Amino acid sequence: MYIISACLAGVNCRYDGGNNFEPHIVKLLNEGKAILVCPEQLGGMTTPRLPCEIVGDNYGSKKVVNIEGKDFTKEFLKGAEETLKIAKLIGAKGAILKARSPSCGKGQVYDGTFKKRLVKGNGITADLLEKNCIKVYTEEDNIDDIK
Ligand code: SF4
Repeated sequence: MYIISACLAGVNCRYDGGNNFEPHIVKLLNEGKAILVCPEQLGGMTTPRLPCEIVGDNYGSKKVVNIEGKDFTKEFLKGAEETLKIAKLIGAKGAILKARSPSCGKGQVYDGTFKKRLVKGNGITADLLEKNCIKVYTEEDNIDDIK
């Protein structure tokens, strides 16, 4: 079983109320091999919501703020914990998450300036899953390799 970012399956949970539908990802869901999650909704964020990005704080840890500077770190951490709980419950082999998202991104995320600049790093949920030995992929990886 896999965890999949719900927006990749066409669920309108993205910050702007839209989705990131990827037909090749939905195949796994239709085959009964995946469960959908939206960590930001699981963390209590509303939809729609203002966009958020990860920034470093003065002590070297990560914070997540929206474009108006409001701190949503607690909600992002909660969403990550809930997603991990679900992944463990279903015995997930891995997760296919939305690239570059502050929750779901793997390897690259936006830099906190809201200017579409990318930096190396993981989203908060992707990071927690990987720390718990759940392999994270994005929709940009080859699904055939994942299966
Ligand atoms: Fe999609 Fe993840 Fe953002 Fe939810 S948190 S909208 S699943 S990228």
